[in-house]
Amino acid sequence: MYDVIVIGAGAAGLMAAATAAHAGRSVLLLEKMEKAGRKIRITGKGRCNLTNARPAEEFAAHVRTNADFFSVAFAEFNNRATIRLFERLGVKLDIERGERVFPRSGKAWDIANALVDYCTEEGVRIEYNTRVTEILTLAGKVYGVNYVNRRGFQRKEECDNVIIATGGVSYPATGSTGDGYMFADALGHTVEPVRPSLTPLRTSHPQREYLNGLLLKNVGVKLYIDNELRCEEFGELGFSERGIEGAVALRVSRDAVDALIEERHVKLVVDLKPALDADTLRERIRREMADMRPDEFFAELLRKLVPRNMVVPLAKEVDFHSKSYISKLTDTEIERLIKILKGMVFPIVDYAPFEYAVVTAGGVNCDEVNRYTMESTKVKGVYFAGEVLDIDANTGGYNLQIAFSTGRLAGQLKK
Ligand SMILES: Cc1cc2nc3c(=O)[nH]c(=O)nc-3n(C[C@H](O)[C@H](O)[C@H](O)COP(=O)(O)OP(=O)(O)OC[C@H]3O[C@@H](n4cnc5c(N)ncnc54)[C@H](O)[C@@H]3O)c2cc1C
Repeated sequence: MYDVIVIGAGAAGLMAAATAAHAGRSVLLLEKMEKAGRKIRITGKGRCNLTNARPAEEFAAHVRTNADFFSVAFAEFNNRATIRLFERLGVKLDIERGERVFPRSGKAWDIANALVDYCTEEGVRIEYNTRVTEILTLAGKVYGVNYVNRRGFQRKEECDNVIIATGGVSYPATGSTGDGYMFADALGHTVEPVRPSLTPLRTSHPQREYLNGLLLKNVGVKLYIDNELRCEEFGELGFSERGIEGAVALRVSRDAVDALIEERHVKLVVDLKPALDADTLRERIRREMADMRPDEFFAELLRKLVPRNMVVPLAKEVDFHSKSYISKLTDTEIERLIKILKGMVFPIVDYAPFEYAVVTAGGVNCDEVNRYTMESTKVKGVYFAGEVLDIDANTGGYNLQIAFSTGRLAGQLKK
């Protein structure tokens, strides 16, 4: 019989398992996929932004839900501790713009492999292709789990401690399909409604199809909810079949998704020329026009100002055909162009589903989990770690740190 069973070999589960084993516990780690850390391997566009090196207060400001609850786990095992651990495990790290920490190799799998090696060296037994189906309890205490083994047979393993580290429901192909919510619910826990976060936003802009494949760098983006400014961001914005994405769109998506769920009116206003005020932009346009022949097309003027995919949408918005001569452009149309360049409006009508969401917002209610131990307040011996909890954060390495900190604390099996 093992001292502890950990369910899920993701960032949180691997950290919890290695921690428990390091403290001398015998640990069984059950993973339903054929290998560990499938999600870690695709993080940070394959580079894995494993944490963020900002000071604690700044870090906390990026945790969107239950930051207070999380602060205890973070104090126990913070971003510095994560950096030290991976360096001790032989992974060289670099700190990049925005204090984001990456493996120097640029390979996310180095992080996943380091965690698996850490578990193996500490003596964790890992069973792959093994799906836990039920947490067994008696008189308010856990006594084991039922699982389906690699051959498809139902089995039972008795144990006094079970750590649920099954992740959320985003990118379900990586194995996180929400099983932890089902377990939590069966144990009497409240599960806060789950919804995609850090997910592409869908616009009803009539020219959206022209924009697919476009990547805008250094744009200013304002998120309006019911015509009130909610937040302002600066950076990269991309357009694809999935919707409006890129770092800026993902950052504002957390608020946008909640507003859409509440059926509120959401729009993004994009400043395509944030470095130029309207007057400077007007001068620039006049200068460009002065250098052009009168029989050149409006499209050619626009090409000097914006990327190719934006030419037709902008011309349509200005209501001046892209194949019309610039000599025909009136002052009113130039003013309209300036207004659009400084604030192109994208009505947001939907968001991309969990398949494309970086994280899941919502999850196991933190009021029913002991923040000093990660133990359930409903069932003795059950612990939660990682994205299964109702904690989520911005992009920038914060979400993996949440998994590492809560995994570390849960793995200590404090009573
Ligand atoms: C595309 C993408 C990029 C990201 N990039 C970053 C980034 O750069 N930086 C960052 O901080 N965060 C990033 N994130 C978020 C981050 O990856 C997650 O928040 C984090 O991995 C969550 O870890 P976890 O261990 O809680 O869950 P997961 O990593 O989802 O692990 C859960 C594990 O549990 C297993 N499991 C589930 N149910 C069962 C069951 N019944 N029985 C057995 N096993 C089960 C799953 O197969 C899975 O292996 C990214 C996410 C995505 C999708």
